[in-house]
Amino acid sequence: AEDLDLLETTGDDSDELIYLPALPVLAIVGRPNVGKSALVNRILGRREAVVQDTPGVTRDRVTYKGEWAGRNFTLVDTGGWEPDAKGINASVAAQAEIAVDLADAVLFVVDATVGATSTDEHVVRMLRASNKPVILAANKVDDARQEPEAAVLWGLGLGEPWPVSALHGRGVADLLDHVLTVLPEISTVAKEEVGGPRRVAILGRPNVGKSSLLNKAVGEERVVVNDLAGTTRDPVDEQVELGGKVWRFVDTAGIRRRMNLAQGADFYASLRTSAALEKAEVAVVVIDVSQVISEQDIRIIDLVLESGRALVLAFNKWDTLDSDEGIEKERRRYLEREIEQDLAHVAWAPRVNISARTGRHMEKLVPALELALESWDTRIPTGKFNALLAELTAEHPHPVRGGKQPRILFGTQAASRPPTFVLFTTGFLDPQYRRFITRRLREIFGFEGSPINVNMRVRE
Ligand code: GDP
Repeated sequence: AEDLDLLETTGDDSDELIYLPALPVLAIVGRPNVGKSALVNRILGRREAVVQDTPGVTRDRVTYKGEWAGRNFTLVDTGGWEPDAKGINASVAAQAEIAVDLADAVLFVVDATVGATSTDEHVVRMLRASNKPVILAANKVDDARQEPEAAVLWGLGLGEPWPVSALHGRGVADLLDHVLTVLPEISTVAKEEVGGPRRVAILGRPNVGKSSLLNKAVGEERVVVNDLAGTTRDPVDEQVELGGKVWRFVDTAGIRRRMNLAQGADFYASLRTSAALEKAEVAVVVIDVSQVISEQDIRIIDLVLESGRALVLAFNKWDTLDSDEGIEKERRRYLEREIEQDLAHVAWAPRVNISARTGRHMEKLVPALELALESWDTRIPTGKFNALLAELTAEHPHPVRGGKQPRILFGTQAASRPPTFVLFTTGFLDPQYRRFITRRLREIFGFEGSPINVNMRVRE
């Protein structure tokens, strides 16, 4: 029970920082009605099923905490999905496919009294291709006389079928013993879950005002914890209370340590940027408005995009553009144009115009960070997403290509942080059609401050 409590101490407002190696993930996959839910309940030992709100996993895949023989693991159930009659094969397989991607091992449940159906075979093919360890559970083997029915499932080519009765509990202990031999101690796929304050990286090329920004933030507010020991390499973080909340600024040592490297400074800076991004959830890219937006600024923004972290753009040194005349007025005009031309691909990022020197508009930073993180965390339920896809494709069908018209069968949000969608299609979608979908998703949901991914899986 203590372990479970520990897992739940992951509130955003907690000052406590908890690093947890992620528990191994076991995905349960199978057709509706094979007895998956009964097996899940059996595995959870009739304990009140604790629904875990796992970041990165949408609610369509319900996640539980399982325990057997003193070992904890995460159980992901793909149930709760009501496939429509026509797309049943494809939709079960698709949901399963995503769960499998997010799992260390798969428990594939087949109804031994029915045998393997074509849907099962569909799933088996996907499981084989996944290269994940698969444990085959032959359910509804309520007594020994039915065991030959389970043995027939050797034919699926997934190794030994484990005969179980989810209803009576028969064989479940042996099955779980076997599951533990296959699951790693620590997940190789699940992201490390970290509680405590949200993690912010302040990025930007030299002299844009990163350390000034940090000093302003730290100087005017309470420094909660200074010099937190870094968990990786040398970077040191600082926790600061801003806007009534504690934030963790990552790798501030890299900002405070003035870099005097003439040679390789660029390379060093990009290494630092990547290291900070790895630890961060949201990046503030600081841009100096007194200078022309440079390739280096854009490269840093691109690193953020590649990392999939949330993004806020802080235009600093606005005090230098205050006057309404001459050069300053002209610089403001050019800046507008530069933003339009060079930063069009991140038009969705919240922008704050600040002066780290005077402190002007510094209070706008926190709402921008909160907005970006909220977008980054967003999860769209599968039902809602598919209703939307149906609307989009009706309003704007994919053009016919060589006599064929690729269709979107359905879609799901496979992950959040950042929101990542998967579309299951009957053929390759044109890049511009994918962009259309992406654009409409942004128009509808906003996702301000977060990159989003729209991926595609073509069904044969
Ligand atoms: P870093 O290399 O990005 O950490 O940049 P620093 O914070 O060290 O700032 C570089 C220079 O820009 C220093 O001389 C700062 O005083 C100056 N600076 C930083 N922020 C502002 C600002 O808002 N307005 C003006 N005018 N100067 C600033």
